[in-house]
Amino acid sequence: MCLKELDNKISNCRKCDLYKTRTNTVPGDGNPDSDILFIGEAPGRNEDLKGKPFVGKAGQVLDTLLDSIGLDRKDVFIANILKCRPPNNRNPFRDEIKLCTGFLDKQIQIIQPKVIVPMGNFASSYILEKYGLKKDSISMIHGKKYEVNTLSNKIFIVPIFHPAVATYDKNKMVYMEKDFKKISEYIKS
Ligand code: URA
Repeated sequence: MCLKELDNKISNCRKCDLYKTRTNTVPGDGNPDSDILFIGEAPGRNEDLKGKPFVGKAGQVLDTLLDSIGLDRKDVFIANILKCRPPNNRNPFRDEIKLCTGFLDKQIQIIQPKVIVPMGNFASSYILEKYGLKKDSISMIHGKKYEVNTLSNKIFIVPIFHPAVATYDKNKMVYMEKDFKKISEYIKS
C-alpha cells in the first residue's frame, strides 16, 4: 500500500465517532521519503478545516523550530496519533487511539523513518510502548534519545514537548530549541 491509498482509507474511516464531527480527515503531510517523522496528538480546528497537520499556532512554533536547525516542512513528514479532530480539542480517548493508530503504524511502515519525534505525552507514550520501551512523562524524557532495532532498520526516537505548550508557556521554547539542536545532531550522526 502507498500513502495515497492509505490517505483514501483514512478519509473514509468511520471506526470511531469522530467522523461525525470532522470537516476533513488529517492524514499527515510532508516528504514521504524523509528520514524524520514528527508525530503530534490530533488535529485542531485549523487542521480540521484545511485537512493538513499543524497549520495553526502550534504549527508556527513547529516551523520556527524546524527552521532553527535548517529544516523545512518539505524535509520531514508530519503526522498525528488521531487523524480526526476531537470536539473542542479535548484529549484523545483511549479507544480512539486504539482504533486510529493502525493508520500511523502503516505510515511508519511505508515511510521507514530513521528518526521518530513524538511530540507531547500522547504521541510519546504511544511510540515508546509500540517499540517496547518504558513510557514516562514528557517532562522527564524530552530530548532523550532512544535507540530501537526493528527487523528492517534502526530507529532513533526523540520525544519532545508538544509545540502547543510553547504557545502558552514561553519558557518551554528554550527547552524545545535545545531538543531540536539534539535532533539535528542525531540526524547527522
Ligand atoms: N496539534 C497537534 O497535535 N496536531 C496538529 O496537527 C495540530 C495541533
